[in-house]
Amino acid sequence: MSDFDYDVLIIGAGPGGYVAAIRAAQLGLKTACVEGRATLGGTCLNVGCIPSKAMLHASEYFDAAKNGAMAEMGIDVTPKLNLDKMHAQRIDAVGGLTKGIEFLFKKNKVDWKKGYASFVDAHTVKVGDETITAKEVVIATGSSVTPLPGVEIDNDKGIVVDSTGALELKSVPKKMVVIGGGVIGLELGSVWRRLGAEVIVVEFLDQLLPGMDLDIRKEAAKIFKKQGMELKLSTKVTGCTVKGKKATLTLEPAAGGDAETLEADCVLVSIGRRPNTEGLGLDKIGLATNQRGQIEIDHEFRTAVAGVRAIGDVVPGPMLAHKAEDEGIAVAEWIAGQTGIVNHDVIPGVVYTWPEIAGVGLTEEAAKERGAIKVGKFPMMANSRAKTNHEPDGFVKVIADAETDRVLGVWCIASVAGTMIAQAAQAMEFGATSEDIAYTCHAHPTHSEAIKEAAMAVTGKPIHM
Ligand code: FAD
Ligand code: NAD
Repeated sequence: MSDFDYDVLIIGAGPGGYVAAIRAAQLGLKTACVEGRATLGGTCLNVGCIPSKAMLHASEYFDAAKNGAMAEMGIDVTPKLNLDKMHAQRIDAVGGLTKGIEFLFKKNKVDWKKGYASFVDAHTVKVGDETITAKEVVIATGSSVTPLPGVEIDNDKGIVVDSTGALELKSVPKKMVVIGGGVIGLELGSVWRRLGAEVIVVEFLDQLLPGMDLDIRKEAAKIFKKQGMELKLSTKVTGCTVKGKKATLTLEPAAGGDAETLEADCVLVSIGRRPNTEGLGLDKIGLATNQRGQIEIDHEFRTAVAGVRAIGDVVPGPMLAHKAEDEGIAVAEWIAGQTGIVNHDVIPGVVYTWPEIAGVGLTEEAAKERGAIKVGKFPMMANSRAKTNHEPDGFVKVIADAETDRVLGVWCIASVAGTMIAQAAQAMEFGATSEDIAYTCHAHPTHSEAIKEAAMAVTGKPIHM
């Protein structure tokens, strides 16, 4: 090991990279992590999960005050928006958490190499003028916004923006068009709708939220429409021009047909993200990416090049912070000679809208393709806590194997679906049957009882329906 400067060098300090670095150091490996951004934490902490949740949480309160949800509970208020202060608390949350990672690096003796890394060979990278060698290198460079041809993003002007620009808008746009009805479009579209914007979502597919269970996608569309979002499904954006402070979009039916135009004060481009490999010098080590620009790996996160591993958004799989984090722990454990496990079949996904939308495991459609299934559903309207809290929208769905009763997937729309889904993931991790969930005592009154009832509904015996 002494032939190298470090046992492990990690490129990128997002949730994949920083977690890998901390676990590697905890396991006694001499570790460095290269990060070009001014603060640690990657997309997630700086411009992703955390700032978006800061704006979602704050705008949820504003909306509840404005739309009568508070009045319904006897609290008469007329909210006044202080957008500067709302942004300040977002910036504060990001600052605190990114500094926290810096503290954890120091505590665990992880060296932060500031700058962008580029390979010289499989064990050597250059960061500015410094050359660093390591026995094992982990690529954790994450992802960035996928551009849409014909639509130029300029976050500074705040007219055509990506997710980073949409987090920082200086005023509430009168009319906002969101291109892409995926997770980012719906979360950030929700923020600005709640704060007063008219929001139109243009989605290429015939439903929102690709990858989620079809029932959930349909129910979500109903709820967003009820909240006042306009949805233009099966529609593609073919161009965008900006004149003064207005953008004009050209739209066409996805299947072809007559074009129409749409004017907006703000356009959010949220059509997906692509892996960051540019500038890494992968050609120097003879490492090619796949058709989607991702780095292929085996179950020990090894790339095709000996000594180089990869994790997080830059490799195949859902682009989620918790998936990157778990891979970060596992890759460090493999490097330290242990067995690192990530069960890629049980990665929960959550959309932090109101209500929240969450799922884990197979959709009903995918489960049916594999064999016979049983499905249990339970509406939140029949859950005592949700009903009492004036949160009637949504349902829970449990999908189980028809023969073994093993749970294959759980989907929910509920105010706290993101919290509820954890028990489903844990049950599936332990190979639970729907009967196991149905016979687990759940505290009353909680939203989670809807998961128990949906599990009981798999055999047709829910109590409160
Ligand atoms: P990243 O977090 O992208 O970090 C990679 C880091 O590598 C970056 O800091 C980058 O500067 C650095 N880097 C790149 N190239 C180099 C180089 N050559 N040298 C040095 N450093 C380099 N996921 C969730 O699970 N929940 C959410 O609520 C959620 N919300 C999101 C909201 C938004 C608006 C966005 C954009 C994303 C959100 N995500 C969410 C996705 C989540 O942010 C990513 O899945 C996660 O950050 C991926 O982690 P990563 O470590 O692979 O990469
Ligand atoms: P996405 O893949 O979730 O959604 C993009 C949407 O854009 C899709 O529905 C797609 O059909 C549509 N689309 C593509 N091209 C289009 C076009 N020309 N016109 C109209 N629609 C078009 O991507 P995203 O919302 O940009 O998010 C990127 C990634 O970030 C996701 O993989 C997600 O996992 C991650 N993320 C996660 C969270 C979370 O976990 N809560 C939040 C934000 C982002």
